[in-house]
Amino acid sequence: MVIVMHGQATAEQVDRVVAAVTDHGFDAHRSTGASHTVIGVVGEAVARLDPREFTLMDGVHEVLRVSEPYKLAGRAFHPDDTVVSVGDVTVGGERITLMAGPCAVESAEQMEAVAASVARSGATILRGGAFKPRTSPYSFQGLGPEGLTLLRAAADRHGLKVISEVVDRGDLSLMCDHVDILQVGARNMQNFRFLKDLGKVSRPVLLKRGMSATLEELLLAAEYIMDAGNSQVILCERGIRTFETATRNTMDISAIPILKKRSHLPVVADPSHGTGLRDKVLPMARAAVAAGADGLLIEVHDDPEHALSDGPQSIFPEQFAELCGQLRVIAPAIGRRL
Ligand code: PEP
Ligand code: MN
Repeated sequence: MVIVMHGQATAEQVDRVVAAVTDHGFDAHRSTGASHTVIGVVGEAVARLDPREFTLMDGVHEVLRVSEPYKLAGRAFHPDDTVVSVGDVTVGGERITLMAGPCAVESAEQMEAVAASVARSGATILRGGAFKPRTSPYSFQGLGPEGLTLLRAAADRHGLKVISEVVDRGDLSLMCDHVDILQVGARNMQNFRFLKDLGKVSRPVLLKRGMSATLEELLLAAEYIMDAGNSQVILCERGIRTFETATRNTMDISAIPILKKRSHLPVVADPSHGTGLRDKVLPMARAAVAAGADGLLIEVHDDPEHALSDGPQSIFPEQFAELCGQLRVIAPAIGRRL
């Protein structure tokens, strides 16, 4: 952290800032230039300091953070890309991983139809919510444990891995019995106690960006899971809330290269929640892969017009097949493959 003093700061004001830095247990390195005095703050846990404490002091012009507050999720101490492995399926690295399936598990027939078609097209991970975090308590809440059984059985029949959302710490052990990757939804991204619980499980966690979360907040949420012991974290851009009303959320494609630069963790994109509209899913999926996403999480339904959850943003199996064909052209152009 660097504290820049005002041009007119007095020697006493500089001394008071230096004393405050050392009181916190850090070293203060003072350098006086022609117009400003600058104080460098050095120490193991500088990230713990709140810059505002110094911003408020007399004579201080500006306080700048020079190191990122997320040591485990950041690239600074871990320059190589992390590849998350689930058996023979990987997320990160050269291959682009496709996770596809309905928003919610509804029936054995639905799961069989979707699993068969997405596996044929190129997906390696089947998605499907058994516990649904719905905005309204009157909306379909998911089939619960029965949904997990149907999801696992359909995935196993087609050689797919399984991802599903966990909404409550009490479900963790049941979830771990059925799924390969635990999804943490946008609404839970800053449920910090829950994130610590996820640090204790032996399953990779796909962490979705909160609806109004900055990328720094997303990386700090990942840091919670990693600091609690689980380094297998996948970041997911799923659109954020903005003033735009043409789409359900605003899909932040620029988040992908920014996260890839700041973090070594794999980054996937969810253009289904990112746009909320079926006809926008393919263009944004293509854009996400072109922007460097390591994978996609896409809602696919065999009968989306009658889906119990998120039908309007769920694509038909034929559209998923079309997308896979397009990605086979786009991926090699950026040194990747499906
Ligand atoms: C979902 O994947 O179905 C879901 C609820 O996602 P999000 O948490 O991004 O809204
Ligand atoms: Mn959904």
